[in-house]
Amino acid sequence: MTVVPATPPTPAATAETPAVRAARRRSAEIEARIDKDPSAFRVLTGDRPTGALHLGHYLATLANRVRLQDAGVDVVLVVADYQVITDRDETGDLRGTVREVVLDYLAAGIDPDRTTIFTHSAVAALHQLMLPFLSLVTVAELERNPTVKAEAVDAARRQQRSMSGLLLTYPVHQAADILAMHGNLVPVGADQLPHLETTRTVARRFNQRFTAAQPYFAEPDALLTESVTVLGHDGAKMSTSRGNSLELRSSEDDTAAFFRRARTDSLRHITYEPEERPEVANLLRIGAHLAGTTPEVLAGSIGAAGAGRLKEVVTEAVVEGLRPLRARRRALQADGAGVVGEVLARGAERANRLAAGTLTDVRELMGTVY
Ligand code: ATP
Ligand code: MG
Repeated sequence: MTVVPATPPTPAATAETPAVRAARRRSAEIEARIDKDPSAFRVLTGDRPTGALHLGHYLATLANRVRLQDAGVDVVLVVADYQVITDRDETGDLRGTVREVVLDYLAAGIDPDRTTIFTHSAVAALHQLMLPFLSLVTVAELERNPTVKAEAVDAARRQQRSMSGLLLTYPVHQAADILAMHGNLVPVGADQLPHLETTRTVARRFNQRFTAAQPYFAEPDALLTESVTVLGHDGAKMSTSRGNSLELRSSEDDTAAFFRRARTDSLRHITYEPEERPEVANLLRIGAHLAGTTPEVLAGSIGAAGAGRLKEVVTEAVVEGLRPLRARRRALQADGAGVVGEVLARGAERANRLAAGTLTDVRELMGTVY
Protein backbone atom coordinates (compact mmCIF):
# COMPACT_ATOMS: atom_id res chain seq x y z
CA MET A 1 0.00 0.00 0.00
CA THR A 2 1.22 3.43 -0.79
CA VAL A 3 0.30 5.45 2.24
CA VAL A 4 3.81 5.99 3.47
CA PRO A 5 6.25 8.86 3.76
CA ALA A 6 9.11 8.93 1.27
CA THR A 7 11.84 6.40 1.78
CA PRO A 8 14.44 5.73 -0.85
CA PRO A 9 14.48 1.97 -1.47
CA THR A 10 17.68 0.55 -0.04
CA PRO A 11 19.61 -1.87 -2.26
CA ALA A 12 19.18 -4.57 0.36
CA ALA A 13 15.43 -4.10 0.39
CA THR A 14 15.03 -4.21 -3.38
CA ALA A 15 17.39 -7.13 -3.98
CA GLU A 16 15.80 -10.34 -5.18
CA THR A 17 15.51 -11.97 -1.76
CA PRO A 18 13.71 -15.31 -1.29
CA ALA A 19 10.76 -13.35 0.14
CA VAL A 20 10.57 -11.17 -2.97
CA ARG A 21 10.87 -14.21 -5.25
CA ALA A 22 8.06 -15.94 -3.36
CA ALA A 23 5.88 -12.81 -3.52
CA ARG A 24 6.57 -12.57 -7.25
CA ARG A 25 5.43 -16.16 -7.83
CA ARG A 26 2.36 -15.63 -5.68
CA SER A 27 1.53 -12.38 -7.53
CA ALA A 28 1.67 -14.18 -10.87
CA GLU A 29 -0.82 -16.76 -9.55
CA ILE A 30 -3.08 -14.00 -8.27
CA GLU A 31 -2.99 -12.20 -11.63
CA ALA A 32 -4.17 -15.43 -13.23
CA ARG A 33 -6.99 -15.71 -10.68
CA ILE A 34 -7.96 -12.08 -11.31
CA ASP A 35 -8.36 -12.97 -14.99
CA LYS A 36 -10.74 -15.79 -14.08
CA ASP A 37 -12.65 -14.27 -11.15
CA PRO A 38 -11.92 -10.61 -10.40
CA SER A 39 -14.85 -10.40 -7.98
CA ALA A 40 -12.92 -12.55 -5.48
CA PHE A 41 -10.60 -9.62 -4.77
CA ARG A 42 -10.84 -6.38 -2.89
CA VAL A 43 -7.81 -4.15 -3.31
CA LEU A 44 -7.06 -1.62 -0.60
CA THR A 45 -4.59 1.14 -1.32
CA GLY A 46 -4.39 4.92 -1.29
CA ASP A 47 -2.33 8.07 -0.91
CA ARG A 48 -1.39 10.68 1.61
CA PRO A 49 -2.83 13.94 0.34
CA THR A 50 0.34 16.02 0.48
CA GLY A 51 -0.05 17.49 -3.00
CA ALA A 52 -1.49 16.92 -6.45
CA LEU A 53 -0.35 13.61 -7.91
CA HIS A 54 2.68 13.49 -10.18
CA LEU A 55 4.10 11.33 -12.91
CA GLY A 56 5.76 9.02 -10.35
CA HIS A 57 2.39 8.24 -8.79
CA TYR A 58 0.88 7.68 -12.22
CA LEU A 59 3.49 5.21 -13.44
CA ALA A 60 3.98 3.42 -10.12
CA THR A 61 0.45 3.14 -8.79
CA LEU A 62 -2.39 4.99 -10.48
CA ALA A 63 -2.26 3.30 -13.88
CA ASN A 64 -2.25 -0.09 -12.14
CA ARG A 65 -5.28 0.79 -10.00
CA VAL A 66 -7.22 1.74 -13.11
CA ARG A 67 -6.16 -1.55 -14.70
CA LEU A 68 -7.41 -3.55 -11.69
CA GLN A 69 -10.68 -1.61 -11.58
CA ASP A 70 -11.22 -2.20 -15.28
CA ALA A 71 -10.49 -5.90 -14.80
CA GLY A 72 -13.43 -6.03 -12.38
CA VAL A 73 -11.61 -6.01 -9.04
CA ASP A 74 -13.29 -4.12 -6.16
CA VAL A 75 -10.84 -1.26 -5.61
CA VAL A 76 -11.01 0.82 -2.42
CA LEU A 77 -8.87 3.96 -2.24
CA VAL A 78 -8.17 5.71 1.03
CA VAL A 79 -7.17 9.35 0.93
CA ALA A 80 -5.15 9.19 4.13
CA ASP A 81 -5.75 12.68 5.47
CA TYR A 82 -4.84 11.73 9.06
CA GLN A 83 -1.50 10.43 7.77
CA VAL A 84 -0.54 13.90 6.53
CA ILE A 85 0.24 14.88 10.14
CA THR A 86 2.57 11.94 10.83
CA ASP A 87 5.63 14.00 9.95
CA ARG A 88 4.55 17.64 9.79
CA ASP A 89 2.77 20.17 11.94
CA GLU A 90 1.07 22.02 9.13
CA THR A 91 -1.57 20.33 7.06
CA GLY A 92 -1.60 23.17 4.56
CA ASP A 93 -4.76 23.57 2.52
CA LEU A 94 -5.94 20.02 3.14
CA ARG A 95 -9.34 20.60 1.63
CA GLY A 96 -7.74 21.89 -1.58
CA THR A 97 -5.16 19.10 -1.68
CA VAL A 98 -7.71 16.34 -1.18
CA ARG A 99 -9.73 17.86 -4.00
CA GLU A 100 -6.69 17.80 -6.30
CA VAL A 101 -5.93 14.16 -5.48
CA VAL A 102 -9.52 13.08 -6.13
CA LEU A 103 -9.55 15.01 -9.41
CA ASP A 104 -6.33 13.20 -10.37
CA TYR A 105 -7.96 9.83 -9.60
CA LEU A 106 -11.04 10.59 -11.64
CA ALA A 107 -9.06 12.10 -14.51
CA ALA A 108 -6.82 9.03 -14.64
CA GLY A 109 -9.84 6.78 -15.12
CA ILE A 110 -10.89 5.83 -11.60
CA ASP A 111 -14.64 5.41 -11.87
CA PRO A 112 -16.54 6.21 -8.66
CA ASP A 113 -19.34 3.88 -9.72
CA ARG A 114 -16.93 0.96 -9.44
CA THR A 115 -14.18 2.21 -7.11
CA THR A 116 -14.70 3.46 -3.56
CA ILE A 117 -12.81 6.61 -2.58
CA PHE A 118 -12.94 7.73 1.04
CA THR A 119 -11.00 9.93 3.46
CA HIS A 120 -9.71 8.59 6.79
CA SER A 121 -11.39 11.34 8.76
CA ALA A 122 -14.84 10.35 7.47
CA VAL A 123 -14.73 6.77 8.77
CA ALA A 124 -14.66 6.69 12.57
CA ALA A 125 -15.04 2.92 12.96
CA LEU A 126 -11.75 2.34 11.17
CA HIS A 127 -9.87 4.22 13.87
CA GLN A 128 -11.66 2.42 16.67
CA LEU A 129 -10.41 -0.84 15.17
CA MET A 130 -6.88 0.48 15.45
CA LEU A 131 -7.03 0.30 19.26
CA PRO A 132 -7.25 -3.47 19.69
CA PHE A 133 -4.85 -3.83 16.76
CA LEU A 134 -2.27 -1.69 18.59
CA SER A 135 -2.27 -4.26 21.39
CA LEU A 136 -1.20 -6.97 18.96
CA VAL A 137 2.21 -5.56 18.00
CA THR A 138 5.22 -4.57 20.06
CA VAL A 139 7.11 -1.31 19.95
CA ALA A 140 10.21 -3.24 18.89
CA GLU A 141 8.33 -4.65 15.90
CA LEU A 142 7.13 -1.20 14.91
CA GLU A 143 10.66 0.15 15.19
CA ARG A 144 11.83 -2.49 12.71
CA ASN A 145 9.47 -1.23 9.99
CA PRO A 146 11.73 0.23 7.27
CA THR A 147 9.87 3.54 6.98
CA VAL A 148 9.70 4.00 10.74
CA LYS A 149 13.40 3.12 11.01
CA ALA A 150 14.37 5.55 8.25
CA GLU A 151 12.37 8.30 9.89
CA ALA A 152 13.99 7.66 13.27
CA VAL A 153 17.46 7.86 11.73
CA ASP A 154 16.51 10.98 9.80
CA ALA A 155 15.05 12.69 12.87
CA ALA A 156 18.16 11.91 14.90
CA ARG A 157 20.44 13.21 12.16
CA ARG A 158 18.57 16.44 11.61
CA GLN A 159 17.96 16.87 15.33
CA GLN A 160 14.85 18.73 14.30
CA ARG A 161 11.94 16.87 15.70
CA SER A 162 11.57 13.40 17.02
CA MET A 163 9.23 10.89 15.51
CA SER A 164 5.56 11.26 16.35
CA GLY A 165 3.54 8.44 17.89
CA LEU A 166 1.37 8.51 14.79
CA LEU A 167 4.35 7.79 12.57
CA LEU A 168 5.56 4.98 14.84
CA THR A 169 2.13 3.36 14.68
CA TYR A 170 1.35 4.05 11.03
CA PRO A 171 1.81 0.36 10.04
CA VAL A 172 -1.05 -0.45 12.44
CA HIS A 173 -3.17 2.36 11.02
CA GLN A 174 -2.54 0.78 7.65
CA ALA A 175 -3.62 -2.59 9.03
CA ALA A 176 -6.84 -0.91 10.18
CA ASP A 177 -7.41 0.53 6.67
CA ILE A 178 -6.99 -2.85 5.07
CA LEU A 179 -8.71 -5.08 7.62
CA ALA A 180 -11.63 -2.69 8.29
CA MET A 181 -12.54 -3.06 4.61
CA HIS A 182 -11.59 -6.76 4.46
CA GLY A 183 -9.17 -5.94 1.69
CA ASN A 184 -7.45 -9.14 0.55
CA LEU A 185 -5.01 -7.70 -1.96
CA VAL A 186 -2.56 -4.82 -1.58
CA PRO A 187 -0.42 -3.60 -4.49
CA VAL A 188 3.15 -2.93 -3.31
CA GLY A 189 6.61 -2.50 -4.72
CA ALA A 190 9.25 -5.05 -3.66
CA ASP A 191 10.70 -2.55 -1.16
CA GLN A 192 7.31 -2.20 0.51
CA LEU A 193 6.74 -5.89 1.25
CA PRO A 194 7.68 -5.44 4.95
CA HIS A 195 4.87 -2.90 5.33
CA LEU A 196 2.23 -5.46 4.56
CA GLU A 197 3.78 -7.85 7.08
CA THR A 198 2.39 -5.78 9.98
CA THR A 199 -1.12 -6.15 8.59
CA ARG A 200 -0.67 -9.88 8.15
CA THR A 201 0.69 -10.16 11.68
CA VAL A 202 -2.22 -8.18 13.12
CA ALA A 203 -4.74 -10.38 11.26
CA ARG A 204 -3.04 -13.57 12.41
CA ARG A 205 -2.67 -12.53 16.05
CA PHE A 206 -6.22 -11.19 16.23
CA ASN A 207 -7.45 -14.57 15.04
CA GLN A 208 -5.22 -16.44 17.50
CA ARG A 209 -6.30 -14.32 20.42
CA PHE A 210 -9.99 -13.84 19.84
CA THR A 211 -11.28 -16.39 17.37
CA ALA A 212 -8.94 -19.33 17.31
CA ALA A 213 -11.63 -21.84 16.31
CA GLN A 214 -12.47 -20.03 13.11
CA PRO A 215 -10.16 -17.31 11.75
CA TYR A 216 -12.00 -14.03 11.19
CA PHE A 217 -9.51 -11.90 9.28
CA ALA A 218 -7.90 -13.23 6.12
CA GLU A 219 -4.24 -12.35 5.78
CA PRO A 220 -4.12 -10.06 2.73
CA ASP A 221 -1.78 -10.85 -0.13
CA ALA A 222 0.74 -8.52 -1.72
CA LEU A 223 0.30 -7.87 -5.40
CA LEU A 224 3.85 -7.12 -6.38
CA THR A 225 4.09 -4.24 -8.81
CA GLU A 226 7.18 -3.53 -10.83
CA SER A 227 8.87 -0.94 -8.68
CA VAL A 228 10.60 1.62 -10.83
CA THR A 229 11.50 4.90 -9.24
CA VAL A 230 10.58 7.84 -11.43
CA LEU A 231 13.17 10.62 -11.15
CA GLY A 232 12.49 14.33 -10.94
CA HIS A 233 14.22 16.91 -13.15
CA ASP A 234 17.14 17.03 -10.68
CA GLY A 235 17.87 13.30 -10.97
CA ALA A 236 16.55 12.51 -7.45
CA LYS A 237 13.38 10.51 -6.78
CA MET A 238 10.40 12.52 -7.95
CA SER A 239 8.58 13.63 -4.85
CA THR A 240 6.00 16.22 -3.89
CA SER A 241 7.96 17.64 -1.00
CA ARG A 242 11.18 17.89 -3.02
CA GLY A 243 9.52 20.14 -5.58
CA ASN A 244 11.12 18.29 -8.49
CA SER A 245 8.03 16.67 -9.91
CA LEU A 246 5.89 16.88 -13.00
CA GLU A 247 2.33 17.08 -11.78
CA LEU A 248 -0.24 15.27 -13.86
CA ARG A 249 -2.31 18.46 -14.01
CA SER A 250 0.58 20.51 -15.51
CA SER A 251 0.14 22.34 -18.81
CA GLU A 252 1.82 21.21 -22.01
CA ASP A 253 4.26 24.12 -21.74
CA ASP A 254 5.20 23.13 -18.20
CA THR A 255 5.64 19.54 -19.37
CA ALA A 256 8.04 20.64 -22.11
CA ALA A 257 9.91 22.87 -19.64
CA PHE A 258 10.19 19.98 -17.14
CA PHE A 259 11.84 17.69 -19.68
CA ARG A 260 14.08 20.45 -21.05
CA ARG A 261 15.43 20.83 -17.52
CA ALA A 262 15.74 17.07 -16.94
CA ARG A 263 19.26 15.80 -16.35
CA THR A 264 20.89 13.46 -18.85
CA ASP A 265 24.56 12.59 -19.34
CA SER A 266 27.39 13.47 -21.69
CA LEU A 267 27.18 10.42 -23.96
CA ARG A 268 25.66 11.30 -27.31
CA HIS A 269 24.30 7.92 -28.34
CA ILE A 270 21.07 7.02 -26.51
CA THR A 271 21.03 3.52 -25.01
CA TYR A 272 18.93 1.90 -22.29
CA GLU A 273 21.32 1.07 -19.45
CA PRO A 274 19.48 1.53 -16.14
CA GLU A 275 22.55 0.94 -13.97
CA GLU A 276 25.09 3.02 -15.87
CA ARG A 277 22.78 5.75 -17.19
CA PRO A 278 19.95 6.26 -14.66
CA GLU A 279 18.79 9.67 -15.90
CA VAL A 280 18.60 8.62 -19.55
CA ALA A 281 16.96 5.33 -18.55
CA ASN A 282 14.38 7.24 -16.52
CA LEU A 283 13.41 9.36 -19.55
CA LEU A 284 13.25 6.27 -21.74
CA ARG A 285 10.98 4.45 -19.27
CA ILE A 286 8.63 7.43 -18.98
CA GLY A 287 8.45 7.88 -22.75
CA ALA A 288 8.03 4.15 -23.39
CA HIS A 289 5.28 3.76 -20.81
CA LEU A 290 3.22 6.60 -22.23
CA ALA A 291 3.85 5.68 -25.86
CA GLY A 292 3.11 1.98 -25.24
CA THR A 293 6.53 0.67 -26.22
CA THR A 294 9.65 -0.55 -24.41
CA PRO A 295 12.61 1.57 -23.28
CA GLU A 296 14.91 -0.53 -25.48
CA VAL A 297 12.88 0.10 -28.63
CA LEU A 298 12.56 3.78 -27.83
CA ALA A 299 16.34 4.04 -27.28
CA GLY A 300 16.93 2.32 -30.61
CA SER A 301 14.68 4.76 -32.43
CA ILE A 302 16.63 7.75 -31.08
CA GLY A 303 20.18 6.38 -31.09
CA ALA A 304 22.64 8.92 -32.42
CA ALA A 305 20.12 11.79 -32.42
CA GLY A 306 21.11 12.36 -28.79
CA ALA A 307 19.65 13.73 -25.58
CA GLY A 308 17.98 16.75 -27.19
CA ARG A 309 15.94 14.47 -29.42
CA LEU A 310 15.24 12.12 -26.51
CA LYS A 311 13.71 14.98 -24.54
CA GLU A 312 11.55 16.02 -27.49
CA VAL A 313 10.32 12.48 -28.00
CA VAL A 314 9.54 11.96 -24.32
CA THR A 315 7.79 15.33 -24.06
CA GLU A 316 5.60 14.39 -27.01
CA ALA A 317 4.81 10.96 -25.58
CA VAL A 318 3.82 12.45 -22.24
CA VAL A 319 1.79 15.29 -23.77
CA GLU A 320 -0.04 12.83 -26.06
CA GLY A 321 -0.35 10.10 -23.44
CA LEU A 322 -1.76 12.42 -20.79
CA ARG A 323 -3.98 14.39 -23.18
CA PRO A 324 -7.19 12.46 -22.34
CA LEU A 325 -6.43 12.61 -18.60
CA ARG A 326 -5.83 16.34 -18.74
CA ALA A 327 -8.94 16.98 -20.82
CA ARG A 328 -11.06 15.01 -18.33
CA ARG A 329 -9.48 16.93 -15.49
CA ARG A 330 -10.32 20.29 -17.03
CA ALA A 331 -13.91 19.17 -17.60
CA LEU A 332 -14.25 17.94 -14.01
CA GLN A 333 -12.75 21.12 -12.65
CA ALA A 334 -15.22 23.18 -14.64
CA ASP A 335 -17.99 21.33 -12.77
CA GLY A 336 -16.81 22.98 -9.57
CA ALA A 337 -16.51 21.45 -6.12
CA GLY A 338 -19.68 19.39 -6.50
CA VAL A 339 -18.12 16.36 -8.16
CA VAL A 340 -15.43 15.76 -5.55
CA GLY A 341 -17.80 16.28 -2.63
CA GLU A 342 -20.28 13.86 -4.15
CA VAL A 343 -17.64 11.19 -4.84
CA LEU A 344 -16.24 11.43 -1.30
CA ALA A 345 -19.70 11.32 0.26
CA ARG A 346 -20.60 8.17 -1.67
CA GLY A 347 -17.24 6.63 -0.87
CA ALA A 348 -17.55 7.44 2.82
CA GLU A 349 -20.99 5.89 2.90
CA ARG A 350 -19.72 2.55 1.62
CA ALA A 351 -16.50 2.66 3.65
CA ASN A 352 -18.52 3.40 6.80
CA ARG A 353 -20.82 0.51 6.07
CA LEU A 354 -17.89 -1.90 5.62
CA ALA A 355 -15.95 -0.61 8.64
CA ALA A 356 -19.00 -0.58 10.91
CA GLY A 357 -19.70 -4.20 9.96
CA THR A 358 -16.15 -5.18 10.81
CA LEU A 359 -16.24 -3.28 14.10
CA THR A 360 -19.49 -4.98 15.09
CA ASP A 361 -17.92 -8.38 14.39
CA VAL A 362 -14.76 -7.46 16.29
CA ARG A 363 -16.69 -6.25 19.31
CA GLU A 364 -18.63 -9.48 19.37
CA LEU A 365 -15.48 -11.56 19.10
CA MET A 366 -13.80 -9.54 21.86
CA GLY A 367 -16.86 -9.70 24.05
CA THR A 368 -17.33 -5.94 24.23
CA VAL A 369 -21.02 -5.90 23.37
CA TYR A 370 -23.00 -5.07 26.53
P1 ATP B 1 5.80 13.32 -0.23
O1 ATP B 1 6.91 14.11 -0.83
O2 ATP B 1 4.77 14.15 0.44
O3 ATP B 1 6.27 12.16 0.56
P2 ATP B 1 5.57 11.83 -2.63
O4 ATP B 1 5.43 12.56 -3.90
O5 ATP B 1 6.97 11.38 -2.30
O6 ATP B 1 4.98 12.71 -1.47
P3 ATP B 1 4.47 9.51 -1.50
O7 ATP B 1 3.22 9.83 -0.79
O8 ATP B 1 5.73 9.35 -0.74
O9 ATP B 1 4.63 10.61 -2.64
O10 ATP B 1 4.31 8.24 -2.42
C1 ATP B 1 3.22 7.44 -2.45
C2 ATP B 1 3.55 6.25 -3.30
O11 ATP B 1 3.64 6.66 -4.65
C3 ATP B 1 4.88 5.58 -2.99
O12 ATP B 1 4.79 4.59 -2.04
C4 ATP B 1 5.26 5.02 -4.33
O13 ATP B 1 4.62 3.77 -4.53
C5 ATP B 1 4.66 6.00 -5.31
N1 ATP B 1 5.64 6.96 -5.75
C6 ATP B 1 5.78 8.23 -5.32
N2 ATP B 1 6.76 8.85 -5.94
C7 ATP B 1 7.29 7.96 -6.79
C8 ATP B 1 8.36 8.00 -7.73
N3 ATP B 1 9.08 9.08 -7.92
N4 ATP B 1 8.62 6.88 -8.43
C9 ATP B 1 7.89 5.78 -8.25
N5 ATP B 1 6.88 5.67 -7.41
C10 ATP B 1 6.57 6.74 -6.67
MG1 MG C 1 7.19 10.60 -0.39
